[in-house]
Amino acid sequence: MNNTIKRIAIVGGGTAGWIAAALLVRLLGKNLEITLIESEAIGTVGVGEATIPPIQALNQALGIDEADFIRQTNATIKLGIQFENWNRAGDSYMHAFGDIGKGLALCGFEQLWLRGLETGVSTDFWDYSLNYQAAKQGRFAKFDSIPNTGMNGLVYAYHFDAGLYANYLRRYSEQAGVKRVEGLIDAVNLSPHDGAIETLALQDKSLISADLFIDCSGFRGLLINQALGVKYQDWSHWLPADSAVAVQSESVNPAVPYTRSIAHEAGWQWQIPLQNRVGNGLVFSSQYMTDQTATELLLQNIDGAVRTGPRVIKFKTGRREKAWHKNCISLGLASGFLEPLESTSIHMVQTAVTRLIKMFPHKGIKVAEIDEYNRQTKDEMEHIRDFIILHYAANQRPEPFWRACSEMPIPESLSNKISLFKQAGKTANVSDALFSDVAWQQVMIGQGLVPEDYHPLANSISLTQLSEFHGNIKTVINQVVSKLPTHQSFIDSLAAKED
Ligand SMILES: Cc1cc2nc3c(=O)[nH]c(=O)nc-3n(C[C@H](O)[C@H](O)[C@H](O)COP(=O)(O)OP(=O)(O)OC[C@H]3O[C@@H](n4cnc5c(N)ncnc54)[C@H](O)[C@@H]3O)c2cc1C
Repeated sequence: MNNTIKRIAIVGGGTAGWIAAALLVRLLGKNLEITLIESEAIGTVGVGEATIPPIQALNQALGIDEADFIRQTNATIKLGIQFENWNRAGDSYMHAFGDIGKGLALCGFEQLWLRGLETGVSTDFWDYSLNYQAAKQGRFAKFDSIPNTGMNGLVYAYHFDAGLYANYLRRYSEQAGVKRVEGLIDAVNLSPHDGAIETLALQDKSLISADLFIDCSGFRGLLINQALGVKYQDWSHWLPADSAVAVQSESVNPAVPYTRSIAHEAGWQWQIPLQNRVGNGLVFSSQYMTDQTATELLLQNIDGAVRTGPRVIKFKTGRREKAWHKNCISLGLASGFLEPLESTSIHMVQTAVTRLIKMFPHKGIKVAEIDEYNRQTKDEMEHIRDFIILHYAANQRPEPFWRACSEMPIPESLSNKISLFKQAGKTANVSDALFSDVAWQQVMIGQGLVPEDYHPLANSISLTQLSEFHGNIKTVINQVVSKLPTHQSFIDSLAAKED
């Protein structure tokens, strides 16, 4: 494993394979020969259409023009995820991106809000969220900050068509020099010397050799699992949904700039509005619901005519014990899966490729690099895992599935976070964590966790000042949002610019 790394073989042309190809060729392309092998006969998972704001960094790294990207992928804007019926039937809250309110010196806004709650000054937490107010009114424009207020502008991600997105990145990568091979790999040959991967044998008898192999072959994990035997750590005792049924439907209303996540008796339903259609799916636990019941339930709760599907997808939440093993790095579904509740999978592909580029083993693979890569991957996945479990664990729904979720033992890392919030209104986050304190606060409050205390710093202003402070924030947000164009007109303006 001490030879110069020059030839890269990427197995799989789904979202993971093409993100890897695009980033590697863009950033390291001068030094590498990159080949991507995919099989149209196998196809891709075909879902994965909602993203989170760090995707902006991916597009910037690739030098992608946003307007072109939105047009080519039928994309819409996403300002957050609305969770409906998650704590109890009839409830609704949003994990809105961006800030909520504005802090004072060292005192976070949530502490001022908690004090205001006790004294009758505070209104709904999301009254102080610019993203939430814009999302609910279907408005959007791009701006970084609200002048003279110290408040940030809208923070956004996209919904897009997964197939068009993979095609978009494929064109990008091929133009930049990535070689695509269409073919079905039917054997992976290992070195008798050290067990590393030597060649991939295709059905047409051709052989592909490389120095480094990137496994983006989907749930099967053709290289990391089937050839190298790296075990899978199963997390389904914490995240019990193991199935999804997906359909695409016609749009009947203008696209809203947020994802909808609607809890049902044994899981939840997603609605992802694109420019020309809606992506729908129902995530459920097969222990509590059959595929047929789930399909019927989904079809009953779709507004427009069905275009494609229904298609049932089975999965197991968890992670590869080593995402990188010998000369193989697994990405995307091959490396693990957290259900799509917070739209994190595509993001984890992005961070994994970035991590690989930072640690790229130009002069041969070093064990210390593999260990550090695997440690960072594990920490990232566990943080996201805990955030997703929180939605399930803190609920007051009566159905057996939900009762089992609220009674299950949860990871200690999560129970510590919940206790800290309940007892002291505080969040304990590591500095580079994907989900910010504000994200945790929204889901904790939305799932009905009420802190017993707030920080004494919130008492540093009088009640009258506190009331004015709250009122000013709401006034600023309402004024800004009322002047924004509609989300639909933003999307239409991009289409018009092309003509
Ligand atoms: C129900 C569901 C909903 C999801 N929603 C979201 C979401 O909203 N947001 C999000 O970020 N993520 C979401 N995801 C995850 C997201 O879909 C994936 O992370 C993403 O699509 C990447 O998939 P992939 O490229 O790893 O695998 P795949 O799309 O399965 O691609 C695998 C590739 O490997 C190739 N391949 C496999 N075997 C062979 C072989 N023997 N020879 C040659 N080629 C082979 C296939 O042809 C294909 O090109 C969701 C996942 C599921 C299951």
